Amino acid sequence: MALTVSHRCQHIAPSMTLAIDARAKEMKAAGLDVVGFGAGEPDFPTPQHICDAAKQALDQGMTRYTPASGTLLLKNAICNKLWRDNGLSYDPSDIIVSSGAKHSLFTVFQAIIDPGDEVLIPTPCWVSYPELVRMAGGVPVFVPSREENDFIPTSEDIQKALTIRTKAIVITSPSNPCGGVWSSDQLQFVADLAVDRGLYVVSDEIYEKLLYDGRWHVSIAQLGEEIKKQTFVINGMSKAYAMTGWRIGYTAGPYEVIKAMGSFQSHSTSNPNSVAQYASAVALNGDQSCVEEMRQEFQRRRDMIVDRINGIEGISCNKPHGAFYVMLNIKELIGRRHHGQHITGSMDFASMLLKNKQVAVVPGVAFEAEGFCRLSYATSVEQITKGMDRIAEFVSEVEPPIGGVWPLNRA
Ligand code: PMP
Ligand code: GLU
Repeated sequence: MALTVSHRCQHIAPSMTLAIDARAKEMKAAGLDVVGFGAGEPDFPTPQHICDAAKQALDQGMTRYTPASGTLLLKNAICNKLWRDNGLSYDPSDIIVSSGAKHSLFTVFQAIIDPGDEVLIPTPCWVSYPELVRMAGGVPVFVPSREENDFIPTSEDIQKALTIRTKAIVITSPSNPCGGVWSSDQLQFVADLAVDRGLYVVSDEIYEKLLYDGRWHVSIAQLGEEIKKQTFVINGMSKAYAMTGWRIGYTAGPYEVIKAMGSFQSHSTSNPNSVAQYASAVALNGDQSCVEEMRQEFQRRRDMIVDRINGIEGISCNKPHGAFYVMLNIKELIGRRHHGQHITGSMDFASMLLKNKQVAVVPGVAFEAEGFCRLSYATSVEQITKGMDRIAEFVSEVEPPIGGVWPLNRA
């Protein structure tokens, strides 16, 4: 037998968000003054009371296996959270805790997808969804959206993508990479469609706490008992509590599937980290003011980065209403040259910016969004100022189109 890599693994692309972040961190470690707008990771330390809870867990010897699907203590805390924040009533047996929301999504797709099943993914989309679907043998079907619609697909576009093989639809609100927030009406359309056609909804709510301009979060599962039975609510500790490294995510959903996910998980990772589970229960049950403090700071940074971008000729962006990303529209720059080198697309833009100005951004191609780059503003005001100064300098060095006048005056 040849010593080959399986077909399944040969075709999996590495996570570009993580790769760019690793590259930026490597450059920093080598002494370069890199500004990282790459990874979507809060720059705040995990709040002290959560760290203290972890220390307490260690001191109390919570260092053994827990039930594979998570401790009852944490499942109860999740049920309380879902009731308190979302008005959703779940039993602990409807909950599974996994090693980060990415792993929650992985396990959901493993549990619901058979080979050839199609999953609708609105684009621009987070890098991992298509690969997670493919890893389960499914087929990602992209549903395009437009910048003028805040990157939320229209009902016509969703309907056009449906086939008899459609098994599920992914909703990410607030969204990564665009920061778009689905309205209740838009969610209601998906809910009605899903109930009517018998589709699962995978509702990724990891950015639920990061909403701006007085908006509040609506989970599609809130829209009625029927849709709740077909929905997987995915959430986790990474973004709201600045706990990316702790690796705790969770899924609430229909009991039979959650049970199957538990069996699957019991043979793959076993339980998520025991100490992190205890600390997560304390985070969910405790004072939530740390979450609000971080949200306010993100909003301040969003306002600042959006103003800076829209003040530079040649690039622009929408004002996102949630998460901590902004989609930089670079369409006016594509096809032009920077110091003689052609910018053929978002990949070139990102790599030239990193090489020439030491600013890391993620090219839109990673999110099925050519013509854009994603900037994460989960970084300090000083870093945002420095990074935007460098981007302005880079853009000013891009040559005008042959025979044309550029930068355009967009006043
Ligand atoms: N969903 C979305 C939309 C994300 O941006 C992330 C960030 N990595 C995740 C899920 C996974 O988060 P984690 O695995 O850190 O809980
Ligand atoms: N979700 C973050 C991002 O999009 C973290 C990296 C990842 O898990 O892909 O940058």
